[in-house]
Amino acid sequence: MPAPLSAAQLARAVTAGETTPHALLEQAEARAHRTRPLNALVSLNPHAAQQADLVARRVEAGEALPLAGVPVVVKDNINVTGTRTTCGSRMLEVYVSPYTATAAQKLLNAGAVIVGKANMDEFAMGSSTESSASGPTLNPWDHARVPGGSSGGSAVAVAAGITPVSLGSDTGGSVRQPAALTGIYGLKPTYGRVSRYGLVAYASSLDQIGPFARSAEDLALLLSVIAGPDPRDATCLQAPTAFRAGTPDDLRGLRVGVIRESLGGNTPGVDAALQAMLEALRGAGAVTGEVSIPELSHAIAAYYLIAMPEASSNLARYDGMVYGLRVPGADVTEAMTLTRERGFGREVQRRIMIGTYALSSGYYDAYYSKAMKVRRLIAQEFNRAFEAFDVLVTPTSPFPAFRRGEKTSDPLAMYAADVDTVAVNLAGLPALSVPAGFETVGGVQLPVGVQFIAPALSDELLLTLAGGLEGIGAVQLGTPPEA
Ligand code: GLN
Repeated sequence: MPAPLSAAQLARAVTAGETTPHALLEQAEARAHRTRPLNALVSLNPHAAQQADLVARRVEAGEALPLAGVPVVVKDNINVTGTRTTCGSRMLEVYVSPYTATAAQKLLNAGAVIVGKANMDEFAMGSSTESSASGPTLNPWDHARVPGGSSGGSAVAVAAGITPVSLGSDTGGSVRQPAALTGIYGLKPTYGRVSRYGLVAYASSLDQIGPFARSAEDLALLLSVIAGPDPRDATCLQAPTAFRAGTPDDLRGLRVGVIRESLGGNTPGVDAALQAMLEALRGAGAVTGEVSIPELSHAIAAYYLIAMPEASSNLARYDGMVYGLRVPGADVTEAMTLTRERGFGREVQRRIMIGTYALSSGYYDAYYSKAMKVRRLIAQEFNRAFEAFDVLVTPTSPFPAFRRGEKTSDPLAMYAADVDTVAVNLAGLPALSVPAGFETVGGVQLPVGVQFIAPALSDELLLTLAGGLEGIGAVQLGTPPEA
C-alpha cells in the first residue's frame, strides 16, 4: 500500500482543482472493497455520492472548506441521516438514523464526504471489536489478531488506508487503545470538547467522540472542525476551538512525567517504545521525571462500576417499542423480555445486570457511590501531578494486539486491557495515543502506542507535542502488509 495522502493534502488538492470529491470517494470505496476481509466497515453511506456532488458545487462556488472532499468514516454509534446506525448490535440492525450527530454534521459542513460507518464492539462495550453483530474486525498487521476496541473499525479504516481520518468514541479507551494496536494516532478530547448529540449513549459522563489520523496536522484539523459548543449538549464546553500541531521547538523545557504505576506488567516491546520516546523527548530538550498516582490501582474497578450503571440506564430505552428490533410476545412484558434477550449480546446483557445490581438500593453505597468517590480522588491526584508536570505519559496498552478469541471467555481479562486508559475518562482529561514503535511477536511486527495525558482543556498541548515528536522522528507510523 503506498503511503496515503493526508486529509489536509487531499483538501488542498480538491480546493486547487487537482482532484474531485467524486474521485476521492471512488478511491475510498475501491479501497474499502479491496480490504473487505478486514471487516472495518458495517455499511457504505448510500448518500455519499450526493454529498460529494454538494461539496464539488461548494468548491466551485469558491467556498474555502477545510475538509473539501475528504473521505471519512464514522463509528456506527454516530447518527448520520439516512444511514443505518447499528451500534454493532442486533437490537439496531434495522435502525436508520432520522438525524445527524453534531460532530458528523460539522464534518459535512467542513466539506467531508462520509464514505461509511465503522464496525465496533456492541454498544461500544469492549476492547477488541469482536462482539459486533456484523462479525469481528481484523487487525491489518496480523489478521489473527484484534485491532483493539471498541472503535476497531474506525482505527482499521485509517490504518488500512480506506480514509485518511475517521471518528470513534472513547468511554474508557476506545479511541486510544485501537489506535495503539493498529499503529496510528487516536485522540480522546477533554470531556465536553466535542458534542455528544447524536452519539448513541453508552456511559454519558465518560463518552467523548475523538479522531483517528496518521499525522498531527490532520488531528488538529479534525479536532478544530468537530469541537465547539452545542446548544443540544448541555455538557459541551464554551471554549476556543482552533488547534494547531507544534514543532520540535515546542518540546524544549516541556516537563514530562511518567506515571510510575504504568511501568509494571508491560511487554518488553511496550517498555522499549516508552523508553525510546522519553529518550527522544530528552534529546529535544524536554525534562522527564516520574510521578506516582496510587489511586490508579482502583481505576478499573471504579470505571466499570460507573460505566455499567450508566449503561444499564441508557440501554433501558431498547424495549422493542421505539427503536429497532421488536419481538412480539403474549403481552408487553413478554415482548420486552424477548426483544432484550434476542437483541442484546452476552457482554451487553452482563453489563446491564451488573449495572442494575450496583445501583439497587442496599448496594448503591457499597458500589456506585464508592466508585464516585474514587473517581473524585483520581481527578484530584491527576491535578496534583500536573503541578509538577505539563504532561503525563504511560503506555497506551500494556501489550500489543492480542489474538482473536484470547480474551473473549474471560471478561475480567478483557476489562484489564484498559488499565492505562480508563482513569483519563474518569477525570475528564484529554489524552493522545502516539504510534511509538513495534514489537515483533512470532515473527510479526505489531504496533505499540504511547499515551500522553494533559490537563483539562489542554488538548492543544497534545497536538503541539505530536507535531514536535513528528519533527524529531519519534513517531513511527509504518504501513501494514497488504490486506
Ligand atoms: N473497553 C472499555 C469498555 O468496555 C472502554 C470502551 C469504550 O471506550 N467505549 O467499557
